[in-house]
Amino acid sequence: MRTTSLNFRIVVAFSGLLALVLLLAFTVVNVTNLRISRAEAAQDLQTGERVFRRLLEQRGEQLTIGAQVLAKDFGLRDAIAADDADTLLSALENHGSRIHADLVMLSNLDNIVKADTVCPERAGKPYPFADLLKQASQRGGASGIERIDGKLYQLVAVPVRSPIIIAWVTMGFEINDRTARDLQAVSGLQVSFLGHNGKDWRIQASTLPDIQRLQLAGFLDLGQASGSLSLAGTEYETRLVKLGESPEGPIYVLLAGSLAEVMQPFQQLQRTLIALAIGALLVCLVVGIRIARRITGPLRELAEVAGRIKQGQYQQDIDTRDHSEIGQLADSLSHMQVAIAEREARISTLAYQDPLTLLPNRVRFGQLLEEAIARAKEEGGTLTLLLLDLDRFQQINDTLGHPAGDRLLAKVGERLTESVRSEDVVARLSGDEFAILLPGITIGTAMHSIERVRRSLERRMELDGRQLDVRAGIGAAGFPEHGDNGIDLIRCADMAMYRAKSSGQRHMLYDASIQRFREEHLSLLGELQQAVEHSELTLYYQPKVRLEDGLADEAEALVRWIHPQRGFVPPNEFIPFAEQTGYIKEVTRWVLAHAIRQAGRWAKDGRPVKVSVNLSAQDLLDPGLPATVANLLDLASLAPEWLCLEITESGLMEDPASALDTLKKLRAMGLSLAIDDYGTGYSSLAYIRRLPVNELKIDRAFVLELTQNEGDAQIVRSTIELGHRLGLKVVAEGVEDLATVEVLQAMGCDRIQGYVFGKPMAAEAFERWREQREATAVK
Ligand code: C2E
Ligand code: CA
Ligand code: CA
Repeated sequence: MRTTSLNFRIVVAFSGLLALVLLLAFTVVNVTNLRISRAEAAQDLQTGERVFRRLLEQRGEQLTIGAQVLAKDFGLRDAIAADDADTLLSALENHGSRIHADLVMLSNLDNIVKADTVCPERAGKPYPFADLLKQASQRGGASGIERIDGKLYQLVAVPVRSPIIIAWVTMGFEINDRTARDLQAVSGLQVSFLGHNGKDWRIQASTLPDIQRLQLAGFLDLGQASGSLSLAGTEYETRLVKLGESPEGPIYVLLAGSLAEVMQPFQQLQRTLIALAIGALLVCLVVGIRIARRITGPLRELAEVAGRIKQGQYQQDIDTRDHSEIGQLADSLSHMQVAIAEREARISTLAYQDPLTLLPNRVRFGQLLEEAIARAKEEGGTLTLLLLDLDRFQQINDTLGHPAGDRLLAKVGERLTESVRSEDVVARLSGDEFAILLPGITIGTAMHSIERVRRSLERRMELDGRQLDVRAGIGAAGFPEHGDNGIDLIRCADMAMYRAKSSGQRHMLYDASIQRFREEHLSLLGELQQAVEHSELTLYYQPKVRLEDGLADEAEALVRWIHPQRGFVPPNEFIPFAEQTGYIKEVTRWVLAHAIRQAGRWAKDGRPVKVSVNLSAQDLLDPGLPATVANLLDLASLAPEWLCLEITESGLMEDPASALDTLKKLRAMGLSLAIDDYGTGYSSLAYIRRLPVNELKIDRAFVLELTQNEGDAQIVRSTIELGHRLGLKVVAEGVEDLATVEVLQAMGCDRIQGYVFGKPMAAEAFERWREQREATAVK
């Protein structure tokens, strides 16, 4: 049991309290006992003293009778008369021995000792106990305790009459240890006879053992000879009684009753009390420990439960049957673990789920992918990873608003989920980027899955009653061919997707050439800069022929890059790249400068051509563009009506407000503005009407199958009609055959640009083509 534990504290508190109470009771009982014992001892002493005095008196009477018998003895009287010392002494000795007297003395009326059994030489000397004799002569006899030659005697003195007093007989018992013992036997007290010579105490006789006697002597010297005394560990209650006055000083007796004897019954009681106390303490300890366990046991269990909750175990069975506070605590804990589990689940959902589509997010997908790879490694299996990026999603967002964009993403998520098997994982990685994990599918057989995914997306999709054409670029990478970890696989699939999108394909499987392509791209920027500086670029011109009369006075300038090593690089391969890197502005400047110079030359030669130049989104965001164009027109002395700028809908969407601003300025300068690739975006004609444009170029996607596809025909027809109604010139792009030309003519299309009339060609080639055409037309 630790000293800090509740268990320990409860036990200590219980037992400590009991011990304290017991100690108090014990002390009170003890003090009372001691007081009672002392009172009792004092009482005993009083009784003892009475008995003691009575005993002394009895001995005195015995002595008196002995002395009187001696006094009446005729032989003695004769010896006194004869003054025969020897006879006297033998008479005294005889009588003395009869009653076992220790001292017998005869003295004459002149107080001269005539005979002494103890000290015969005292004969003829003065009588030593003058006071005793004075009392005796007054009362006819006396008794007392006297000291002589260091010894203590109980003495009586009686007169010898014949018939008048002729002498005095003094008879005495010596008071020694034996006397004390005799007295003790009757009185039950320790008896010590003490002499005091005015200065020192002297223990004449005593029943005390030697060691106690020695200590008593010490106490006497200190003047502490009465009351309570402790002699060699024995407690005494004492009483000092003066017995008499001798020539050598007063004589006392010290009566001592042992406290231990009085306390004997109390000590028994004390022992019983101690036994009881120990018993009570033991019981208290046992009970205390049990109670403490009853309290701390459940508490400790709950603490362990809490510890496990801390480690993330939320499914513990917690016993809540107890109705005490501990039960309440258990109940709270039980609720707490449920609440924590719920909250944790919610947090991990938030952390791992995309709230819009409810699909796993990038983090979760990464985990699932790694798990799937680990499983495939273990089982020797395969998997394919698809990455999808929606086309023109930014544009949809900008045109229809973000809420619509969100709904579209949710729909795409649903479509993708429907198109795959239950064991496949669909996730939204970011914005318009989705990923699909196909376990067990090899990259070689992935085409089937890709097709299904693509078809599910391209199926009719309606959003707010509007028909949407949803497409995505798809890149695929496979394990184990393209990488043995998630990061590598995602990177490969991403490259494949990027390549698919930039090359206008719907999907692409990763292969090493893609990696090469990617690497080539990195060096492309430097090379593109060189191309602009070293005139590796050139402009081709494609005629925009007027249907009404076949006039070819307009052309679109299309950039060409003749790379010294690579050869011809198609614009589709470097224009998107230049747009991504921001280098497009330099390219556009170059194109504008050359196209305007060329147009200027043609105008000077008297054969003016209206040249169209393509602008990218970033060009429209350049506030310096109108000034640049004005400058170039100036330099080439070209009237602004001979320049047309083509912009795509998506180009307008990046920053519609400032793009519109730039367009207005350009239009105000007298330039023509055309909407390029019309139909691929989502702008309504109502929106186009608000723009300062005067030409619509229908995208070649609608033109390509115009003669076979009634839907396309309808779109083109209504576009031409509406365009005209808005006062716009309508141009059809990508026309490759005369049948289409006829259809377009019937629809009222204004101009046609396409291989059917002429491919893009160098300036001189264009001139020759034009001459040739005019010559034919004249015919
Ligand atoms: P775009 O502006 O739509 O240009 C028309 C494209 O359609 C040209 O491809 C042209 O060769 C092609 N085309 C014309 N008639 C037909 C036809 O009958 N059938 C087919 N299949 N295609 C036809 P090109 O020259 O490869 O240009 C591709 C794209 O590159 C252009 O599409 C344009 O977006 C961009 N581009 C070309 N030059 C420039 C430029 O100087 N600046 C900018 N910003 N972009 C340019
Ligand atoms: Ca164009
Ligand atoms: Ca176009």
